[in-house]
Amino acid sequence: MDIMAMISDDVLESIRTRVDIVDLVRESVPQLQRAGRNFKARCPFHQERTPSFIVTPERQSFHCFGCGVGGDVFSFVMKMESLNFMEAAEKLAGRAGIEIVKKDQVLGPADAERLKLKELLELAAAFYHTTLLQSSTAAAARKYLAQRQVSDETITEFRLGYAPSAGDVAQRALRKGFSRDLVVKAGLAREAGTGLRDYFFDRVLYPIQDAKGSVVGFGARALGEAQPKYLNSPESPVFSKGRVLYGLFHGLATIRKERRVVLMEGYMDVMAAHQFGLKIACAPLGTALTLDQVALVKRYAGEAIVVFDADAAGRSAALRSAEILLAAGLEVRIAAVPQGKDPDEFLHAHGLPAFEECLASAVDLAEFQTELAIAARPGILTPVEKSAVARQVLETINRCPDEIVKAEWMRRLSQRLQITDESLRLQSAKRGQPARRGSPAPSAISRGELAGAEEDILVCVFMQPHLAELLQETDLASPIARRIWQTLSSQKPWTGNWALKLRDSLSPEENSAAQRILLKVDEFDKTDVEERLKSILARRRTQVRYEELRAALKSAGRLGAAEMGEYLKLTAQLKGSPKS
Ligand SMILES: [Zn+2]
Repeated sequence: MDIMAMISDDVLESIRTRVDIVDLVRESVPQLQRAGRNFKARCPFHQERTPSFIVTPERQSFHCFGCGVGGDVFSFVMKMESLNFMEAAEKLAGRAGIEIVKKDQVLGPADAERLKLKELLELAAAFYHTTLLQSSTAAAARKYLAQRQVSDETITEFRLGYAPSAGDVAQRALRKGFSRDLVVKAGLAREAGTGLRDYFFDRVLYPIQDAKGSVVGFGARALGEAQPKYLNSPESPVFSKGRVLYGLFHGLATIRKERRVVLMEGYMDVMAAHQFGLKIACAPLGTALTLDQVALVKRYAGEAIVVFDADAAGRSAALRSAEILLAAGLEVRIAAVPQGKDPDEFLHAHGLPAFEECLASAVDLAEFQTELAIAARPGILTPVEKSAVARQVLETINRCPDEIVKAEWMRRLSQRLQITDESLRLQSAKRGQPARRGSPAPSAISRGELAGAEEDILVCVFMQPHLAELLQETDLASPIARRIWQTLSSQKPWTGNWALKLRDSLSPEENSAAQRILLKVDEFDKTDVEERLKSILARRRTQVRYEELRAALKSAGRLGAAEMGEYLKLTAQLKGSPKS
């Protein structure tokens, strides 16, 4: 289904004219700086030290030469906030004061079901929340939360709820007209004989919200003796526990601003952190961090601090999480909560400043592992033990995608072990390049630079797309340049924003080259483009023909009279010093 078809071109166009991409990007990337006719910053979508993220006001587009992402205001919002096109359009329309009339019938069946499920879960969350606040049956739940020192503000902010022993949600949903099938699919009830039976009984509920704030499921803690003590909603079309982070939505504004997150273990830890004002705290839902969650973090932050409870299980979970965050290119540090407490207990006992001290003393992965490995070998390290520690830590160091960080870690490790840099480097080299575990680091895409003449040709064509018709395939030597030319030609008659359509049809590598050319276009003199192109082409064709004849001469040892004459003429034209 074509989602673009749901919104008229007029509406899309008026969004494009009313929302300025520079203003929009700057809200999420405050360090955006003017660079000539464009704006530049470090890319919000991948980690980098030198800015390769370019925003071009003239074309209302952005492009990153490091990771290849790019597009218009819609793509930016989609990427930045992980929205689909429709959601991004709605958001931008709201910002521009434009009303979008949604046509329900155009929604695909799966999308329509997801919307319905979210509506139903929203209804359930509201019911559970009101029950917690008002019902006499929820007295024990309120008492439990008070004991855990959860404030009224936190209860409201996180929309905590209570599922009564009597169970009522399924019946309410049916009465409101939701189908039986949908109630089961949402994970609110199970089929039980002739009727539906609520999924949650006598439990405190923690609604799980996705990054946009939609309730997608619930975490639930038993108040009585029911087992298991903690229970999540079953997986559904809108809920997958490996894809959401608890607390992310509530902290999103701050996380975007600070570009960092603090990862904790449980619901209570996250709520306590937010209650004390540490809004960048979030947590996976009782499982080890997944690659999807890491991708989610990466959308909003470049740095993560993994906080763990000081027991062995907590430590190894933290280590695993930190490793996949590192492999994904995030800056990672690990912090232990002192005195064997979890963050929730520690915050309530010592307050935020003490907790922030503990965050400030967080160490990076290499240091964490070094100290762990050394602590496991009491006394003064023997040379054999030093070698074992080095091997263990080198494995982590070699997985780090950033060469500068790697070098720094090597230097520190050799210092800590009191061995020479040189012997450590040898040891590391001897181990070769170990296979990367976890997710491979995203490889930087090629710079997308074309040879001079090819680039000049395409610059002209990009200035006036109809000139593409003057070109022949042999005018361009590289496959990338040819693809760009062919794709551009296929977009005749180049109305509207053809540059954006072009980007959608090209591979990342081709795009990188195309965007580079578009940037050049901005700096070029726009007069006499056609004449300029014609002279470049003429020279280029002369060159190509000359190369052809020269190759023939070389292989056959001779040329026919006419060809020899042509060859000599071309040689003279090219001043006898042809460059290939
Ligand atoms: Zn990037």
